[in-house]
Amino acid sequence: MGKALCLAVMTTKPQRSLPPSAPKTTALPPHPIAVRLLAFYDAHQRALPWRATDDRPANPYHVWLSEIMLQQTTVAAVKPYYEKFLLLFPTVGALAQADPQEVMRAWAGLGYYSRARNLHACAQQVVRAYQGQFPDHYEGLKALPGIGDYTAAAILSIAFGKRALVIDGNVERVVTRLYRVETELPRAKGEIRAHLDVITPEKRCGDFAQSMMDLGATLCTPRKPACSLCPLHQDCLSAHQADAETFPRKAPKKERPRRLGQAIVVLRDDGSLLMRTRPPKGLLGGMSEVPNSDWTPEPAAFVAQDLLPFKATWQRCPDPVRHVFTHFELHLEIYVAKIPARHKAPDGMRFVALEALAEEALPSVMQKVVNAGLVALGVRVQTPIKDTKTKSASIKKSAGQ
Ligand code: SF4
Repeated sequence: MGKALCLAVMTTKPQRSLPPSAPKTTALPPHPIAVRLLAFYDAHQRALPWRATDDRPANPYHVWLSEIMLQQTTVAAVKPYYEKFLLLFPTVGALAQADPQEVMRAWAGLGYYSRARNLHACAQQVVRAYQGQFPDHYEGLKALPGIGDYTAAAILSIAFGKRALVIDGNVERVVTRLYRVETELPRAKGEIRAHLDVITPEKRCGDFAQSMMDLGATLCTPRKPACSLCPLHQDCLSAHQADAETFPRKAPKKERPRRLGQAIVVLRDDGSLLMRTRPPKGLLGGMSEVPNSDWTPEPAAFVAQDLLPFKATWQRCPDPVRHVFTHFELHLEIYVAKIPARHKAPDGMRFVALEALAEEALPSVMQKVVNAGLVALGVRVQTPIKDTKTKSASIKKSAGQ
């Protein structure tokens, strides 16, 4: 598309908020930007395990699973989890029948654990309400647990080939740069949707959505976009102005509040660790943890001994464990102790053999705590506990699909 036409599009202010699934009423030839992007996709698409290939058609279960996993996380972090899930739960029916703890264990380390709970609930509802086949309409998808606008649009488009406006962080970045959208995010979402509606084709909608994601992940990157290699260089207003990196416009970030707490790592002489399970609802609900205090903005008076009905000699780790959650940053002081094998676990807790720790649904923050505690106790773990880090919550699906 020439610059003049691009400017004309830019001056067309969005009049209304468009639905994520937006079938057009008249058959128009594809927009030149769509033509260029689809050619780019045909030549350079990323090979991702959940994508359709010539001999493997799009599978709604695979698309849904990958999209849920990719929220707030990178492709590199997701790949091993995706492959493990397909081995453990090859179909949505198998996932629906799985024990919830097995699902949490398979998810442990990927972060944002409410997604794992919703994943399981969604699989059960797909089996119950749709005989194990994902619905191919927006309302049905949106009514399923854990599926919002973005995921519903992605499934419609990628799995079912229906026209839908799929907008993740990559797409926001590409569109705001193409049209030099001056409005700050998140207020710019309506404008982005309107621009995307203009360029989204009627056919090959899934490929178009994935081509936008690929462009954002490989060329139109947050820093140093490779504009000279980009198939949309001639269309792109910010590339012409040489200010692409300044888009999307964003309101200044608020500082993330800090919370403080303490955790205890108690090792029994028989090589087992004191653990408990978090309440089913709320942050990290249903996950495993070592005993720990409330997490509060101010330092709270805490005596490690209060958590145990027997005496122990405590040692404090020199450095606290830091972990970033979506809305706050946590600093946990770690106290460690060794106790004789005769002690039983207090009510609501259990001792878990170190060799069996990999079977526990330990979230990343607790993996860090256990690792730090065991190091302080001088314990060498034969099979290191994994510490797969999800990206900080500030990275909002920017790596996309
Ligand atoms: S020309 Fe540059 S800024 Fe514009 S879409 Fe391509 S990579 Fe992004």
